[in-house]
Amino acid sequence: MTVKRQLSMVLDLNKCIGCQTCTTACKLMWTNRNGREFMYWNNVETQPGKGYPRDYQNMGGGFDEAGALRAGRQPSQEDYGIPWEYNYEEALMTGTDPWLRPNVKPTWGANWDEDQGEGDYPNSYYFYLPRLCNHCANPGCLAACSRNAIYKRQEDGIVLIDQERCRGYRYCVNACPYKKVYFNEQISKSEKCIFCYPRIEKGLPTACAQQCVGRIRWIGYRDDTEGPIHMLVEKYKVALPLHPEWGTQPNVFYVPPLSPPKYGPDGEMLDESRIPLEYLESLFGDGVAAALDTIRTERQAKADGKGSELMDTLIGYNHAEMFKLS
Ligand code: SF4
Ligand code: SF4
Repeated sequence: MTVKRQLSMVLDLNKCIGCQTCTTACKLMWTNRNGREFMYWNNVETQPGKGYPRDYQNMGGGFDEAGALRAGRQPSQEDYGIPWEYNYEEALMTGTDPWLRPNVKPTWGANWDEDQGEGDYPNSYYFYLPRLCNHCANPGCLAACSRNAIYKRQEDGIVLIDQERCRGYRYCVNACPYKKVYFNEQISKSEKCIFCYPRIEKGLPTACAQQCVGRIRWIGYRDDTEGPIHMLVEKYKVALPLHPEWGTQPNVFYVPPLSPPKYGPDGEMLDESRIPLEYLESLFGDGVAAALDTIRTERQAKADGKGSELMDTLIGYNHAEMFKLS
């Protein structure tokens, strides 16, 4: 789908500390009430893990190799996790209950499998994967909507749902393979990340990027050849889309994580990646090995005092310079 300009985001997974500040910033701004309590337009998952909603990667959606929509299913409320409240009044105000406790027994929720990962000590591993709508160039949600309620803005490629046209059929929820459209049962309409467009229109970055304490997020336009998105995605090819095989052409890109060392049975350091390359390729496609090689080479150049444009960008010395919004 052709647009005049495409706003994009790059996230460096080597710098994410899983603090959920981005999640909180998004939630407080957009989804903390009115049927949106279970929605996490931005969430941060531990990988390997089930993700959010639970097992979303096995729910179908997106496009097949011929370009046809693949069948997909909706997550159940249990896959999202039932939002729970706490007995604040009894525990903190009246003192009638000595324990602060949830009002239901939680069995699943966003970030439920935090820091579990895979592997056995001393070779266990995990990393954090922040996820938001990819504002895809070929959005499955848009293609599936029989009401033409979903549209992609010409000026910046942001994908939005026209709340006046939406009738809550939820075809978009089935069709988005990233499960980044949510159904609001209170108003019977679908809702999703809006890339903080009211902030973007004022020249401000999204709330998740503004608040990111790890400085892992860059925002800019794909056609800005002087900008950070072009440098990371096109020039150095170190930023890759999540699940490109799903065919929606995401505009959110990830710098894959380097591995900590792997150890042999006698504690010797092995010349192997602790995070299996095949696992990273199953998420980010064939470009992972080359991207990691480039990062290692440039990191060494920086360490050797030779200088590196790529490393200077990835370090993000100045937070404000990570956003190029004009
Ligand atoms: Fe649509 Fe999902 Fe792509 Fe977002 S990530 S534009 S909701 S298909
Ligand atoms: Fe990661 Fe930044 Fe979100 Fe913290 S605020 S979890 S560092 S993306």
